[in-house]
Amino acid sequence: MPVNTDRLTGAFLEFARIPSPSKKERAAGDWLLAQLKEIGYDATEDDAGAKIGGEAGNIIVKIPATAKGKKLFVSAHYDTVEKGDRAIAPQVEGDDIRSDGETILAADDKCGCAVMLECLRLLKEDSIPHGELLFVFSVAEEIECRGAAMLDPEHYKGFDAGLVLDHSMPNDIVKGSPTKVALKITVNGIAGHGAAPERKINAAHALATALSRLPSGRLDEHTTCNLGIVNSGTKINVIPGTAYAEYEIRSHKQELVDFYLEKTLATIEAAIREHRKYVTGIDTSLGGDGTDTDEPLRRATVDVEVETSYRCYRHDEKSPAVAVLRKGIEAAGEKAEYVIAQGGSDANIYNNCGLSTAVFGCGMHGAHSLNERASISEMVRSVKVLTEAIRA
Ligand SMILES: [Zn+2]
Repeated sequence: MPVNTDRLTGAFLEFARIPSPSKKERAAGDWLLAQLKEIGYDATEDDAGAKIGGEAGNIIVKIPATAKGKKLFVSAHYDTVEKGDRAIAPQVEGDDIRSDGETILAADDKCGCAVMLECLRLLKEDSIPHGELLFVFSVAEEIECRGAAMLDPEHYKGFDAGLVLDHSMPNDIVKGSPTKVALKITVNGIAGHGAAPERKINAAHALATALSRLPSGRLDEHTTCNLGIVNSGTKINVIPGTAYAEYEIRSHKQELVDFYLEKTLATIEAAIREHRKYVTGIDTSLGGDGTDTDEPLRRATVDVEVETSYRCYRHDEKSPAVAVLRKGIEAAGEKAEYVIAQGGSDANIYNNCGLSTAVFGCGMHGAHSLNERASISEMVRSVKVLTEAIRA
């Protein structure tokens, strides 16, 4: 039987309406479990939710081989970014599905989930021969792939390749993605009244000194950096005692991330150290008679929390995941295109856990925006690519 377009579209519309921002995926997880049961699969849920403080875990479907073929791992995430205040109201407009413009659509990544469900139905209906399969619907991808990071690699140990549906075009093969490192910078100074600056250290000023010495934007052909968040202060006449910033570095080469990270940390440390005082002035804010003029050295301090959100990978055309995916794309009558992603996905986790994993598309466009769109025909093409990649 061919792909059932109405059934695929219907599943997407129903699933998109169930809100599932990261860590609040319970209702969506229950819907998936019910669908899988109805199709005739035994699904389990792991404890990823409990481990990361979320409501639901990764949903895992293990499917024994029906023929001699590759052991394949297939995954999409079912959490989304925050949707906005209103309920998601998907609407079909020709080949496209859109929200009402007030919320996201959740095409990222419920397109991928709907494609996986339709493929699972076809495997049964058409008795498509396949090797051992593992289908995983993951949680918390939008918060640094934390659900995938909690998935026990034992589940896919010994598998030949992984395919992640989390991209637009079904004939694209994402062959590389960067490492992303986040720096959470907290500066501590000494707070006080702005008109009594003696013995005080302005944390906002110290942070500003450090930030002014950090680069912004593109660092080289592989690497970018960005200052995303700066917070400090409460009132114009108050010397802020703390200041906070978040800064990211991402690169397609791990050695460049390491190089820039070391440089960045040294720059911040040196700048903050300049903000120090030998207190010799009179400080009436401390009370007393104002004669204690020989205070010890005081200085601003900084604490930088460094978090690697995900690590880079780069496939060549011979890597197992690329070979499997290309076979699926060509068998579906399409021409494979190779692309490089500028962000991460669950595939970064699996690749760095030793499973060759490639990402391809499932018809989602404008992810994370109010203009998000799902293409029905591209979802259909994605089901064909996936089914052909799986066929033994
Ligand atoms: Zn996604």
